[in-house]
Amino acid sequence: MGIRPRDTVFVCSGYGPHVFAWGVQYALARMNVAVIPGGGMDANMRAMIVERFEPTVICATPSYALHLGRVMEEAGLHPAKSSVRLVFVGGEPAAGISNTRRRLEDLWGAKLVEFYGCTEAAPHAGGFSCTASDLGDGPVTTHLLEDVQIWELVDDESKAPVAAGERGLTVCTNLSSESSPQLRFLVGDYATFNTDICECGRTHVRAVGGFCGRFDDLINLRGIKMYPVQLEQAVRAVPGIGDEYEIVLATNADGLDIMTARVEHTDPSVAGQVMSEIRARCEIRADVEVLAPGTLPMTEFKARRVRDERKA
Ligand SMILES: [Zn+2]
Repeated sequence: MGIRPRDTVFVCSGYGPHVFAWGVQYALARMNVAVIPGGGMDANMRAMIVERFEPTVICATPSYALHLGRVMEEAGLHPAKSSVRLVFVGGEPAAGISNTRRRLEDLWGAKLVEFYGCTEAAPHAGGFSCTASDLGDGPVTTHLLEDVQIWELVDDESKAPVAAGERGLTVCTNLSSESSPQLRFLVGDYATFNTDICECGRTHVRAVGGFCGRFDDLINLRGIKMYPVQLEQAVRAVPGIGDEYEIVLATNADGLDIMTARVEHTDPSVAGQVMSEIRARCEIRADVEVLAPGTLPMTEFKARRVRDERKA
């Protein structure tokens, strides 16, 4: 990921009983990297820490990294001119959603690197960005730690292993966990594996295009299936759109299930543009509600962007 002992990493996450913050904390300690544990702080306090202690890396969910950068901007600070050179994210798909990745990299003037794992198959992170993970043309790739874990992909319906190069759901067997040994645990993110030697020199398998959302996040609207990551890519394709957005699924008076994208923008006329981006990527017509910036609640940890209010 490019983190070295000369770095200072600011972990902008709560330290609850999940693998993310603790895993990062212990790993960095072993690498002799200075860590600022940022649990139990609000965004204003974290913004002040970035200014005062000048971390070179921030570690957060992608939604929170966006939020923190905006809080800094509102306070008259400049995240892009800050000491931060790497934005290290986990917990939500980001690297594989080019519009989200670009948004974060522009906001922080920094490179985005990703961590992929799941609490059940801890203690090790399952995946990470290497120096060759984003070479500009072509999709990003994320390595998986095959020295301590066995990774497989299975068909989403039959759960049988997929053929080499096919897309499937991630399955992990961890080889060194004492507290939570897992045998073929269905992590359940869609991925496509590539076993070629990476340009960074590693031989461990890579997920091409990153991890594209969880099987159980699938949205089925009137028989049309899509994933939240596709909607995120569509919404964030529109210039000037706010970081926060919401997708509401509801049943209208005629008993028809409909989708409404609630987005933030200073110009209400962008509704048509958002609608056509969604139609192009998800093949569905969505209503679009354009709200004034700052209307939707800010994400503090992992974003919950899809609200399903359909009648059964
Ligand atoms: Zn690599």
